[in-house]
Amino acid sequence: MSGTADKTFYLETFGCQMNVHDSEKVIGTLLQEGYRQVPTVEEAGLILYNTCSIRDKAEQKVFHRLADYKKLQAQGKKFGVLGCVAQQEGEKIFERAPHVSMVCGSASYRNLPEMLVQIETGNRSTGLDDRATDHCFETEYTARTNPHRGYITIIEGCDKFCAYCVVPFTRGKERSRTSSSVLAEARQLADLGYTEIQLLGQNVNSYRDPDGKKSFAELLAAVGEVAGIRRVRFTTSHPRDFGRDIVDVLEAVPTLCDHVHLPVQSGSTRVLDAMQRLYTRDQYLERISWIHAAQRDLSITTDLIVGFPGETEHEFEQTLSLLDEVGYDSAFTFKYSPRPNTPAIGLDDAIPDGEKAWRLAVVNEKQKQMSAHRNKRHLGRTVEVMVEGKNPRGQWIGRTSQIKVLNFTVPEGVELKTGSYVDVRVTASFSNSLVGEMVSAARGS
Ligand code: SF4
Repeated sequence: MSGTADKTFYLETFGCQMNVHDSEKVIGTLLQEGYRQVPTVEEAGLILYNTCSIRDKAEQKVFHRLADYKKLQAQGKKFGVLGCVAQQEGEKIFERAPHVSMVCGSASYRNLPEMLVQIETGNRSTGLDDRATDHCFETEYTARTNPHRGYITIIEGCDKFCAYCVVPFTRGKERSRTSSSVLAEARQLADLGYTEIQLLGQNVNSYRDPDGKKSFAELLAAVGEVAGIRRVRFTTSHPRDFGRDIVDVLEAVPTLCDHVHLPVQSGSTRVLDAMQRLYTRDQYLERISWIHAAQRDLSITTDLIVGFPGETEHEFEQTLSLLDEVGYDSAFTFKYSPRPNTPAIGLDDAIPDGEKAWRLAVVNEKQKQMSAHRNKRHLGRTVEVMVEGKNPRGQWIGRTSQIKVLNFTVPEGVELKTGSYVDVRVTASFSNSLVGEMVSAARGS
């Protein structure tokens, strides 16, 4: 390490939005402990990887990184593995990569200050709370990396045990924060100038206020009513816990964004049952019918897995027909891959990889056409975007309330600030973006 005078760290994050936000809290904690963040491994005394084990590829990447930089140990650098791979592999990581000094799962991040002291004194340190932990990682030292969109974790862990998923094992049981602490954080973000808030959790709608004051829908509404907040998003929702009351508040509170992400995973009830998803195709479609019936034009996105063990061609076709019935705006699609310690590991993963790849290509092509079709409805409309920056062609990039990317031009001489809101008329649409021309600054900008 570089000594106590200049303690430096480099942190690379893999995986989901929860990990990205966890990293913001980890960075805040390290800064508080006197560390300074640096942009390269070479400059750092402590090299940290916040890992994801949802797919084998993400996990392998971390071990490749560790192998690549092993030689730097000779310069006194220390290595730490955080997150899901840390929790899943535990102290086995020390055997596989002996130059690692710290292994810490996400449920143990509150112990980071003590763990840092241990590794600074040349010891190894392990933080591996089990599933039963009641602890959350609430810290006042969050180093927010996006100056306009503030993330707030409302629930950690997961109690669903979908057959293919490692999260219930790596992130522990469900632990919700009190609605009062969530609202206090939302107000604090608004005071700091944030205008968009994204509520995070593996299943935000499984939220249970420990004080019993608010349901998830009520909390969503209350965050949307915080003065200064213009946009509120939430991710991810589990279909079983997705109630009609969520659509009701989306209708009632204008600051809530026109978007619902509702992962379906498969269009076949038999496969959903094998996946232990706790809902049928019809129950899923019932929730979609509430969203379709809303007065607001809500965009719907999803996650899909193809080639789950035993998925027949007919069952795969049911997924394709579900895409038609729902009309998703976009979908994150994946080939099934077995993950250690998950219930599905015992199932016969007999579908050849080539067949899985073919199914994935078919689903992607179908969704691409659907996305292009869905995006056409915006043509000629004027929509509000939050400005996010410029693309390589010099056009401005904005994000609509429906979470679509809109590349747009502005009248000559106009300069915009990132984080500001402008109204843009949509002049062209593609499968994954819209194009437009700025009309005016949005109301209240
Ligand atoms: S709901 Fe299922 S897929 Fe989502 S985190 Fe929990 S176990 Fe994993």
